[in-house]
Amino acid sequence: MMLDVTAAFTAVLQTVRDTGTERVSFESATGRILREPVLADRPFPPFDRVTMDGIAIRYDSYARGQQIFVVEDIQAAGTPQLQLSNLANCMEVMTGAVLPELTDTVIPYEHLDASEHEGFRRFTVNQPVRKGQNIHKKGSDVKADTVLLSPGALLGPAEAGVLATVGKTQVQVARLPRVAVISTGDELVPVSATPETHQLRMSNVYSLGASLQQMGINARRVHLEDNAAEMVNTLRSLLYETDVWISSGAVSAGKYDYLPAVLQQLGMRQVFHKVKQRPGKPFLFGTFNNGPVVFALPGNPVSGFMCFYRYVQPWLQAAMGAAPQQPAYAVLAEKVHFDAPLEYYLPVKLQSQPNGKMLAFPQPYQGSGDLASLLHADAFITLPAEKALFKKGEIYPVWKFR
Ligand code: AMP
Ligand code: MG
Repeated sequence: MMLDVTAAFTAVLQTVRDTGTERVSFESATGRILREPVLADRPFPPFDRVTMDGIAIRYDSYARGQQIFVVEDIQAAGTPQLQLSNLANCMEVMTGAVLPELTDTVIPYEHLDASEHEGFRRFTVNQPVRKGQNIHKKGSDVKADTVLLSPGALLGPAEAGVLATVGKTQVQVARLPRVAVISTGDELVPVSATPETHQLRMSNVYSLGASLQQMGINARRVHLEDNAAEMVNTLRSLLYETDVWISSGAVSAGKYDYLPAVLQQLGMRQVFHKVKQRPGKPFLFGTFNNGPVVFALPGNPVSGFMCFYRYVQPWLQAAMGAAPQQPAYAVLAEKVHFDAPLEYYLPVKLQSQPNGKMLAFPQPYQGSGDLASLLHADAFITLPAEKALFKKGEIYPVWKFR
């Protein structure tokens, strides 16, 4: 029986296996999935931090009417905390410095007139002063031992800054799965070749490879000719060296679509073959005991592309322990008619509006072989199988690939 998309997706996620973890330098952790909590090793900020260049005073003196402050010393950033010895004086302070002991308020140079009197530098206040101004209080952003990052976080630029701040030079991240992308078909020639009229350059393995590369995964590439015995041999040699296979083609009803039988011969447990979706109906999925999970995607380029983002990427993210992603939605910007009893994945261009709404514009699309249509799209909008007419203004889920 053919599964619907929801059932197929559930079945795919039930096979998720943990890829395990490894420790890497925080500098090479960008794009990886964190697998340990990261705590604040000390308060943020770690001391009462001066936020303006100027002077630090004791507010009481100002409150009593004092306007002129004699400079005692300078507290620069990166120097140990000084102490004001005469409470009626001030300390010059620089942004990033520790607030001097016995001071509690910082007045910026912009609110001061500088002068000199009997060899002493002094400042006269020319603007109202608020007690405690221009100080970033110790621990006001984050208390020590707060969990800053939880397992499952995707490490990006904001996370890199936090890892650096807490001195986390080595970080535990998900191990990247070993993936093989497998092309099939006698019509395919290498990219560097000049194809004969009846031949094509293999493209699917490169778009799949690029999708994986964006997740930090460098897949190996394998090509299979339409020859069942050779397919068995080549795939058998891959069984123990890979965690995931993503193949393209040879799973439909053609005379030379040997892959389902070949996978069965190798001992794969088939989870399903065919899903009520367009494109991508011939999608076959299975697992080997102590061997790879197999995403046997249809050969038509848009089909394989859509299946990658709908099934493969969520599986890989879950296997690496990534926090689940929020579903995205968009407003259909033009009406669509599609009456096959299949969930329809239509390439759309997303455009966010000044009113905050995301519009999805269906792109000219000649069907699942139309690989160039993806150049003008950012996502697939998902139109449910139960309906045939989809009106402008209706809201549907989108699966983004850009
Ligand atoms: P198949 O599922 O093997 O019948 O392939 C369906 C269509 O996709 C055929 O037109 C194939 O030539 C094409 N195709 C299959 N694999 C690839 C690939 N790796 N790159 C480009 N086109 C492919
Ligand atoms: Mg083929």
